[in-house]
Amino acid sequence: MKGLVSPQAYFRLHGGRPRKHLGQHFLTQPKTAQKIVQAAALRPEDVVVEVGPGLGMLTAFLLDACGRVHLVEIDPELAAFLEETLRGRSDTVRVHRQDVLQFDWGGAAQEAGRRLVVVGNLPYQISSPLMFRLLEHRHAIHHGVFMVQREVGRRFAAEPGSGDYGVLSVLLRLYGTVQAVFSVGPGQFYPPPKVDSLVVRVDFPEERCEVEDVDFHLLRCVVNAAFQKRRKTLSNALAGFHGLAPTDLRAAFEAAGIDPRLRPETLSPQDFASLARNLIKGGMSPVDPTV
Ligand code: SAM
Repeated sequence: MKGLVSPQAYFRLHGGRPRKHLGQHFLTQPKTAQKIVQAAALRPEDVVVEVGPGLGMLTAFLLDACGRVHLVEIDPELAAFLEETLRGRSDTVRVHRQDVLQFDWGGAAQEAGRRLVVVGNLPYQISSPLMFRLLEHRHAIHHGVFMVQREVGRRFAAEPGSGDYGVLSVLLRLYGTVQAVFSVGPGQFYPPPKVDSLVVRVDFPEERCEVEDVDFHLLRCVVNAAFQKRRKTLSNALAGFHGLAPTDLRAAFEAAGIDPRLRPETLSPQDFASLARNLIKGGMSPVDPTV
């Protein structure tokens, strides 16, 4: 089974049109879908969560490659189509009609008895928020393969000092690894998007990484505050951050061995971790993750 239905055929039959606000650009090339699934290197025992399955172009290949697939689709009509089409496969596939940003990663991993693999041709408007959610729930996730807007993929994989380097580059490098796999042009989608896409693979290593002693939300908050003023020096960018006294901030820079006159974008991910660690040691109060 290669693709459940072509998007053109689906809309001809069902009426309506792809929903722009849900980032509905459907992949039309089975070969590309196959390459994306191959990049996930699935084993039969893997449990996969597919983000935004749409009309099932990736799903068809996922079902051939692993034991169980959760399909998380926000569009009720597409979710109903998937439920109907895959009715006979309830032992291996479950459709969740919901926003993937609310998905219970921990619950699904617990039920699976293993860490999950996440795959998706992501709706572009949720690529970054989703990556933050996955980072937060990294203990439930083994790895993921995602098609994202090329610029976003470059940000995920960016090196310190480059213009693309930002909050997600820092966090993904601290908690995992990012690898650009291949590019996909707009002509492979219906309707074609205005941008190029990039397939990236993100791995969250099983062993506890070296920053697990630092509270994730606090670290994210520090990195975020620094990059909000990326053209300023670190001491200016973080001045007044979280109510910290200038002396406490100076002490944290000194203990971390970081020159506060540097610009945020020149700091390595490990520098950010060290800064956050020393801010905590210096008495910085916890960050409310819900704010
Ligand atoms: N996987 C299909 C493919 O490759 O052809 C569709 C990809 S399309 C770029 C993105 C899909 O994500 C659409 O089906 C859209 O309805 C769905 N989607 C958009 N926002 C979502 C959200 N917050 N949660 C779950 N699904 C979402």
